[in-house]
Amino acid sequence: DLYLNPTYSFDNYIEGDCNRLARSAGMAVAQRPGVTSFNPLLIYGGVGLGKTHLVQAIGNHIKGHHHDKFVLYVSSEKFTNQFINAIKSNTLQDFTDFYMKVDALILDDVQFLSGKEKTQDTFFHIFNHLHQSGRQIIMTSDRRPSELQGLQDRLLSRFKWGLTADLQQPDLETRIAIIQRKLQAEGIYIEYSVIEYIAHSVNTNVRELEGVIISLMAQASLVRRDIDLDLAKIVMKNIVTAEDREVNIDTIQEIVSDYYDVSIADLKGKSRKKELVYPRQVAMYFAKELTDLSLKSIGYHFGGRDHSTVIHAIQTISDLMEQDDSIKEAVQKIRSTFS
Ligand code: ADP
Ligand code: MG
Repeated sequence: DLYLNPTYSFDNYIEGDCNRLARSAGMAVAQRPGVTSFNPLLIYGGVGLGKTHLVQAIGNHIKGHHHDKFVLYVSSEKFTNQFINAIKSNTLQDFTDFYMKVDALILDDVQFLSGKEKTQDTFFHIFNHLHQSGRQIIMTSDRRPSELQGLQDRLLSRFKWGLTADLQQPDLETRIAIIQRKLQAEGIYIEYSVIEYIAHSVNTNVRELEGVIISLMAQASLVRRDIDLDLAKIVMKNIVTAEDREVNIDTIQEIVSDYYDVSIADLKGKSRKKELVYPRQVAMYFAKELTDLSLKSIGYHFGGRDHSTVIHAIQTISDLMEQDDSIKEAVQKIRSTFS
């Protein structure tokens, strides 16, 4: 219905470890709006991670399967502006009446309501009315509810009535799948190694990943050639700014976890299994080599370990590299992905 963009669907919302819970909760809500215990459903996560896409997909699904339902998607900014205009034109009653008729209300970026007391008061009343009458409420936020400063406690406590699910930075597999999907939609074929290269190079968020693919396609058509590794490298060089290229601890943990096929949670975790201890030590080794972090803060990023553990890790890896060429090669191979 209103303000829904039909291009956002579940079909083109790639599933991965980074979004599994949020996506399946969204699907449950889309199939049975207002009926599940996921009411409200609050999706949170950083910029470009797919919040708007997911909640729009929910709205489109409800609209497509429940024709009698009034689905409304609105950004919190728009909601606030409508509210202010209603006050100015003395039509507040019409405003609230309208929102109270909605069967599924999608309010995007609720953090925007922060500090706007009057808007929050009105949203509170709308929320209560909708919730009491079994209507579905779906919201997004750029941070977890406990960090939503400037939002009234009574609102925050209601957000907890339902389900809160987060979107994480897309993992490597998800990034590869997103690129493949995007290229497929454009009818473009490129070699897998190029896809992998792009997925490795852009690990911030999906919006940025899409930006790179668009530049790549534009560049390819401009110079009338196929997208190959050389072209991808040229385009990446122009796009990735010095700041993005700076290696940080998250990148290191991600690359090492991909390389050894262990989870980031395990890198930070307590287990002393050999197959985890070694990758963990490699990651610490790179953290010392490639970042300015102190030993203490490196330890902190690995599950709150002591600085002496970090020293031991660096020493161990240095020794192993001297003793064992295959380890030396592995470390060099990992290092090359950072540059
Ligand atoms: P946010 O609202 O969190 O800032 P968006 O929903 O606007 O992020 O997503 C940014 C872009 O990335 C959009 O073009 C969206 O379609 C795309 N996107 C995000 N997540 C996925 C995903 N899992 N699969 C496919 N496309 C995605
Ligand atoms: Mg958004």
